[in-house]
Amino acid sequence: METIEQKQKKESARIAQALESGDFYFIGIGDGGVGCCCPHCGAEGRWVYEWCWQGKRHAAMAGCYKVLTRSIPVTDERKFWEQLSTKMAKGKELSGWDKNIMNLDSMRDQYGDEWVDKKIQETLEKRRVWAANKRW
Ligand SMILES: [Zn+2]
Repeated sequence: METIEQKQKKESARIAQALESGDFYFIGIGDGGVGCCCPHCGAEGRWVYEWCWQGKRHAAMAGCYKVLTRSIPVTDERKFWEQLSTKMAKGKELSGWDKNIMNLDSMRDQYGDEWVDKKIQETLEKRRVWAANKRW
């Protein structure tokens, strides 16, 4: 298992990488607590979204996040990380799929981004099929 320090170091490296490439990278959702303000517009709220895009780090609440990221393609992977961060920020239980993908995401050092991204795509696809069948 990774230590928290290792995880934080890896996360910083990924943020730095995203800032350098200019790619979209979803960092996560933080709990600002009741009465927190949107770092973008100052509106009152609680959950602060953080992401990287076009070489800059951004933070805003859900409404502003949606507007500010409108031009960025919504992939299954992006949706997954947004949903997962919401669950984690709100202390909701994670599913087996969530844990699988988090586990894959932690293996980038050993197996490389290409392999990990492919496996995550495959897992998301399996989850999509599973969810479609579950709906009868
Ligand atoms: Zn705002």
